[in-house]
Amino acid sequence: MKYELRIAHLYGDLLNTYGDIGNILVLNYYAKQMDTQIKVKIVSLNDPFDPNDFDLVFFGGGQDYEQLIVSRDIQRKKKSLTDFINAGGPVLAICGGYQLLGKYYIGAKGEKIAGISALPHYTKSQVNHRFIGNIEIENEETGQKYHGFENHNGLTYLGPGERPLGRVLSGHGNNGADQSEGAIYKNTFCSYFHGPILARNGELAKRLLLIALKRRYPTADLKQPAELKIKPTY
Ligand code: GLN
Repeated sequence: MKYELRIAHLYGDLLNTYGDIGNILVLNYYAKQMDTQIKVKIVSLNDPFDPNDFDLVFFGGGQDYEQLIVSRDIQRKKKSLTDFINAGGPVLAICGGYQLLGKYYIGAKGEKIAGISALPHYTKSQVNHRFIGNIEIENEETGQKYHGFENHNGLTYLGPGERPLGRVLSGHGNNGADQSEGAIYKNTFCSYFHGPILARNGELAKRLLLIALKRRYPTADLKQPAELKIKPTY
């Protein structure tokens, strides 16, 4: 393989509901077609995160209990993760991971779970209710439609500098009220989609890989996403 990308799977041993790890399988599938070898490392409790050691970050979702444990540990990685994000490092964060990149999440029992405020959104909770089901959104820049499955208690409200990953066509999205789903901030992509998101939305997988490759190999003549097959065959 001509290129290599190093992926940090943040708290992959704690936050991995609904097979969020499948996103890494999908990244690997497209990476091979881009002549790229993927190396994955779980960065979990007590592990340092050095932004120079990674080209892409993946952060999955989970239950409130695990989120609380992660919330305490991630404060020590707050600066290095924020630096990675502000420098334009590509990040994919799903559900609980999405909530923890923001200011805070009020859990189902009313507990305040601190995020790292790398992104300006915040998340409140619903009383005895969750948003569960299939969801379809449209990304306004590309016109691409993304499909997935959502299952969350949290109601997320975007802040300055964030735009939604898409406009809700069917389903609930960030908060069930403003038609937004997920967030885009610099090269950080957040979503409530499990499924996992990249398995059904190959365009997004290719976009993330291309951002990572361009940052790591600025002068390389890379294959364009349109040249790559969409259907995963693993
Ligand atoms: N515990 C969070 C919520 O219910 C995140 C859930 C998830 O990651 N699926 O909103």
